[in-house]
Amino acid sequence: MGEFELIRTYFAAAPCAQGGEGIALGIGDDCALLAVPPGEQLAISTDTLVAGVHFADPCDPFLLGQRSLAVAVSDLAAMGANPLAFTLALTLPTVAADWLQRYAQGLNAMAQRCGVGLVGGDTTRGPLSLTVTVFGRVPAGLALTRSGAQPGDLLCVGGDLGNAAAALPLVLGQRSAAADVAEPLLGHYWSPQPQLALGIALRGKATSALDISDGLLADCGHIAKASGVSLVIERQRLPLSAALLAFLGDDGARAAALSGGDDYVLAFTLPPAELAPLLADGWPVQVVGRVEAGAGVRLLDARGHDITPAVRGYQHFRQAP
Ligand code: ADP
Ligand code: MG
Repeated sequence: MGEFELIRTYFAAAPCAQGGEGIALGIGDDCALLAVPPGEQLAISTDTLVAGVHFADPCDPFLLGQRSLAVAVSDLAAMGANPLAFTLALTLPTVAADWLQRYAQGLNAMAQRCGVGLVGGDTTRGPLSLTVTVFGRVPAGLALTRSGAQPGDLLCVGGDLGNAAAALPLVLGQRSAAADVAEPLLGHYWSPQPQLALGIALRGKATSALDISDGLLADCGHIAKASGVSLVIERQRLPLSAALLAFLGDDGARAAALSGGDDYVLAFTLPPAELAPLLADGWPVQVVGRVEAGAGVRLLDARGHDITPAVRGYQHFRQAP
């Protein structure tokens, strides 16, 4: 099968590639064309997943399809953007029909759940790697950036933390667990749910936001730096799932919530007056700390003692200490 037949069979023919609102021209030309209404801005983000670095190889291609799109769409959620479209740059060692079919099905399932259309991509031969670029739209001036946190704001997250990180030893086959524990954790890892509706609900309310990909401690450091403030996290307030607590115990669960990556839950800062209306509307907002004047991130235990660890999250290219 040649490059063009592959594109046609698995991607151009996929249900998620059949156009949609805001897509003026999809797959097949030199560029796709997106329509952005006046007064809105285009939000763009790219994520690459490399076999052996970001996922174990071999793995279930359907789950990989879901996850490769979800991690990219999560960045749209973190900006408060409405999803519009995505492109897929696929590098494959060989053309395995079965693998491609399952991958495209997983991609399609997540695309339909998130409301994004596939509008183009690139297909090359080489070590397995997947690059997804997502496009969204957001009213001008209302995107949720990392730079607006103010002393006095609450530090909040959009749901339970640490589940995906805890799933990693299960994914790698290093540990096993009973189904009622393993299944919810693996579900968070393979099929993260981008918090698109929450991001949109936070427009004009949250003063800063991001999606947690490298662990709460590390990612809060990005908000602290961009906003020129200090973020304080209270260890006792971390939201933890029953499955996570059963799998790792209290200490292990809190460590996973603080330093484990791959959650794709939103973290954001909120003026205190905004909290009650969001909770009343049923949004999953959990207060985990606060914003203070200063710099950096501090972690406090239940008695208010500073227990900030030295190493905070995963970084590519970081030298071993
Ligand atoms: P060009 O050579 O002009 O860059 P290509 O030959 O690479 O175009 O691709 C032909 C068309 O197929 C383009 O519209 C491109 O966006 C699309 N395409 C290529 N690979 C993929 C893919 N993996 N998924 C979706 N669309 C793809
Ligand atoms: Mg090309």
